[in-house]
Amino acid sequence: MSLKQILADLVAINSVSSVSNAPIINYLDERCTSLGFTTRRYSYVDENGLDKINLVAVVGTELSEVTEVELALVGHTDTVPFDPHWEEALTLTERDGRLYARGSCDTKGFIAAALLAVERADLKNLKGSLALVFTSDEEIGLRGAKFLADLNALRPRYSIVGEPTSLQPIRAGKGYSLAEVVVRGREAHSAYPSLGASAVFRAARLINRLEQLAEQLKADQHPDFDPSYTTINVGLVRGGTAKNVIAGECRFTVEWRPIPSQPSDLVFNLMNDAIAEERKTDAHFDAELRLERLDSGFETGTDSRVVSLLEHLTEKRAGTVAFGTEAAHMTVLGSEAIVIGPGDIREAHRTGEFVPVDELERCSEIILQAVSELCG
Ligand SMILES: [Zn+2]
Repeated sequence: MSLKQILADLVAINSVSSVSNAPIINYLDERCTSLGFTTRRYSYVDENGLDKINLVAVVGTELSEVTEVELALVGHTDTVPFDPHWEEALTLTERDGRLYARGSCDTKGFIAAALLAVERADLKNLKGSLALVFTSDEEIGLRGAKFLADLNALRPRYSIVGEPTSLQPIRAGKGYSLAEVVVRGREAHSAYPSLGASAVFRAARLINRLEQLAEQLKADQHPDFDPSYTTINVGLVRGGTAKNVIAGECRFTVEWRPIPSQPSDLVFNLMNDAIAEERKTDAHFDAELRLERLDSGFETGTDSRVVSLLEHLTEKRAGTVAFGTEAAHMTVLGSEAIVIGPGDIREAHRTGEFVPVDELERCSEIILQAVSELCG
């Protein structure tokens, strides 16, 4: 089967995160089994009652409680939603050396490239064991990879995680954390401020502290990143009920992207300190932090074999990204991880998403060479 045909099959199966990924997992399971892989499913039911499945396929070893493998190739099966008017969304369409469809770049292109690579590899004569890992719900919080990490399902020595990087190897990524802050006050007629306590004024004091904190965090530099420090964003603020009512409640979100050398809960702890500081001058200061995400970053050393190998194969220096990837969870599982894939992240998540044909083909060759080097 050609690479384009495999990708056409994959994109034809709608696997947006809001539906069960069972159909695409069934397809992948069948392909892996026919190539001689042993497979196992790690499933959970999401909050909408849908089956979400992570598939682990291995060759050269048996599946056990904690399956040890030399190399894992990791790709997420879910995609972001698509505009129903986009007619090519589920039909791979080639134009000017590009393949258009939802997921063509993020990340079904990588999965197709990996499937073709293992089809071409001399699997019977591999010395090291190889795993293919297909995850669920990456686009809505890396949930599948987190699930596998919590289960301690496998222990890969090296992993190659698919994401569109225009074939640049990525050896480090920032983490991703999110909290909602609920600030409470006391409602009253705005003509009589002393009868109430404004939750909006309280929230503003806290947001002001967060802005100062963001400045202070610039002192902890990780020069390989751009920006080279942990960033903070207050993206949403919502508070009050009317212009002439003292606000009884104000909520805002705080998102921070920690550099991997920093504990991922550092900002969370500093925010708690900020609330404690406010209480010193306002005994009734009422604010609650609700942690929603706490994903650590990852960093694989420049001296790692998988880094130097991928740098050699791509003729590109390994870089870093400022967003979260499943590589962090592979690192939790004890792996030296690298992220790479065909297509440009800036083209992903848009109507008209595409993967360049030449990058797709090159990616498959790179994976094949990586398998032969690391497992051969
Ligand atoms: Zn992705």
